[in-house]
Amino acid sequence: MNIKDLFVKKKAVVSFEIFPPKATSPIEKIYDTLEALRGLMPDYISITYGAGGSVISNRTVELASLVKNKYKIEPLAHLTAIHSSKEDILHLLNELKEKNINNILALRGDIKEGHPVSKDFRYASDLVKFILQNGNFNISGACYPEGHFESANLDKDLDFLKKKVDSGVTHLNTQLFFDNQDFYCFLEKARKKGINVPIQAGIMPIVKKKQIENIVFLSGVKLPSKFSKLITKYGHDDEMMRAAGVEYATEQIIDLLKNNVQGIHLYIMNNAQLAKDIIKNISHLLEGINRE
Ligand code: FAD
Repeated sequence: MNIKDLFVKKKAVVSFEIFPPKATSPIEKIYDTLEALRGLMPDYISITYGAGGSVISNRTVELASLVKNKYKIEPLAHLTAIHSSKEDILHLLNELKEKNINNILALRGDIKEGHPVSKDFRYASDLVKFILQNGNFNISGACYPEGHFESANLDKDLDFLKKKVDSGVTHLNTQLFFDNQDFYCFLEKARKKGINVPIQAGIMPIVKKKQIENIVFLSGVKLPSKFSKLITKYGHDDEMMRAAGVEYATEQIIDLLKNNVQGIHLYIMNNAQLAKDIIKNISHLLEGINRE
């Protein structure tokens, strides 16, 4: 099933993002998580690609295959290009074909200091074109409601996003954000630029104070004062912080669904209980969103 087709069938697509266990851990470590996620009936599960990881030791394809062939859930395999050669990517595309996986989230990836950058790929759009020349894949891409951190401004970022979509991307997943107004504003601007593919909102429930420091550092997303206050109030207490983080994410999702978002992509950090709690909170809104 092509992920783009899900958006024709459903008013709102719901998916989860997971990451593979470390190369030194057994893959079975993730079985319980996948079993629990299957019970929540996601439309698909996306699997991250370790930044700068060696092609051989990267477990994205292995996990995507498990999701598809053992758990019978549609996988979206991430792939990054900035530290890869055409040969590396071809190797992965062949593996994906062998495992019958046809949905790829094509990314440039973050530039890792001290690692040589690719001579073959500069931007995600280069990867998109290369993938389409080498197989019958359905391609998703990343987008940034507040603008990508390297971009001069959102307007410029959207011009490049339009080019990326035109190179063959059929669906976009957003970076996480904490202020829905940023998403609505981005959506309006994207549509005005002629970006017409489905755009799914990425939501990350924050359950620990230290998560926030990493996330702001890595992605540059802004923290609305409502959210900062919540961290000041509950950050010292794990249980209270978890409850407050789940409540904040739930409120964001309810607002998005009421405003006819095309999909919610939950960054769950392999925490199935978190996914369960959020889905339970929004189950009344999810009923009846299937168009079939
Ligand atoms: P691009 O679309 O190439 O954009 C990168 C920058 O270049 C932007 O500033 C853009 O405006 C600019 N640009 C694009 N095209 C041009 C052009 N033609 N000329 C000039 N400038 C241009 N990282 C991982 O390592 N592994 C993952 O699994 C992973 N999953 C992700 C999933 C999602 C949903 C998101 C939102 C991000 C993910 N990332 C992941 C992070 C991502 O790799 C970084 O954000 C990276 O810095 C940009 O990747 P991109 O594909 O968006 O790049």
